[in-house]
Amino acid sequence: MLENKNKNLTKLEDLGEFNLIDLLTKDLKIKHKSTIKSIGDDAAVLDYKSKKVLVSTDFLVEGVHFDLSYMPLKHLGYKAVMVNLSDIYAMNGIAKHITVSIAISNRFTQEAMEELYAGITLACEKYDIDFVGGDTTSSVTGLTISVTAIGEANLKDIVYRNGAKPNDLIVVSGDLGSAFMGLKILEREKEVFKVNPKNQPDLDQYTYLIERQLKPEARKDIVRLLKDLKVNPTSMIDVSDGLSSELLHICKQSKVGCDLYENKIPLDPQLISTCEEFKLNVTTLALNGGEDYELLMTISQKDYDKIKGNPNFTVIGYIKEENAGTNLVLRDNSIVELKSRGWGSKED
Ligand code: ADP
Ligand code: MG
Repeated sequence: MLENKNKNLTKLEDLGEFNLIDLLTKDLKIKHKSTIKSIGDDAAVLDYKSKKVLVSTDFLVEGVHFDLSYMPLKHLGYKAVMVNLSDIYAMNGIAKHITVSIAISNRFTQEAMEELYAGITLACEKYDIDFVGGDTTSSVTGLTISVTAIGEANLKDIVYRNGAKPNDLIVVSGDLGSAFMGLKILEREKEVFKVNPKNQPDLDQYTYLIERQLKPEARKDIVRLLKDLKVNPTSMIDVSDGLSSELLHICKQSKVGCDLYENKIPLDPQLISTCEEFKLNVTTLALNGGEDYELLMTISQKDYDKIKGNPNFTVIGYIKEENAGTNLVLRDNSIVELKSRGWGSKED
């Protein structure tokens, strides 16, 4: 798909950088009044009035963060945006703008780039984002994408990693571990395909897991929900590297300890059955897997009634004094130290 085998595909060198940018950005529509100047000048101009501005950037590098043999370019574009929006939501803010910078080698075609941008555009439509600029350069080794997300929040609503207090509840949205299991399945299929390209994999039983890997959704809905429920978390972080590593970030920055309960970690039934099939420990996976893009937060006990019974939230433990340590309470009630990375987590 990516190679220039098909004579109908357009080589990037025949198109030129400026034509490529024009082509990729011609259909973008501006949604926000706060976008005073979008693509086309030396810089975008944004108007955030009295709000505080949140800015976050991430790199996605081919061969490190993604493998195009099982990641369709449209999904990659979508995911590159999600990864960044997730960081803005983790501050309890709302993302409004992105810029996208790409480095591309000449093995990519105009059509491949249009696929990538279709994913980016879809994400922008769904999450109400104006795409206001970027940069384009050539690369000798593959594809690199860097997205910058810009968002807003009232100062009093912003939630940092360092606000957790002893006795706070540890709460997570959604479920954990499935995105990493999805990756394992895609990697296995790639190996099977190498041996026998005629083999048509039946992936139906893994749909949820694969979707969690290929098409993650950032939890803008949780930020809204917290506002509606009038819950302001004391600390928050998004789960990009795995639950244990994110919880340890909160504990370290807040100077607190924690008790995390193994039996409370939310797991999808498909993950549980697939872990049995692969003979993997589901807890290890949920703790270390990463790329779930759920929100991990701490809330004051007085807010418990507001989230109690809400299917979007699971209470998975308690914040303790720092000297209590960072503990994982296993199913048999024994206690082990929470470790940042067992195996399998990906590069930052
Ligand atoms: P400069 O030379 O100032 O870096 P460019 O020619 O790179 O300007 O960019 C011209 C305009 O096109 C700018 O508004 C920039 O934000 C936008 N742009 C460049 N590359 C991309 C891209 N990959 N996606 C979206 N917009 C881009
Ligand atoms: Mg430029």
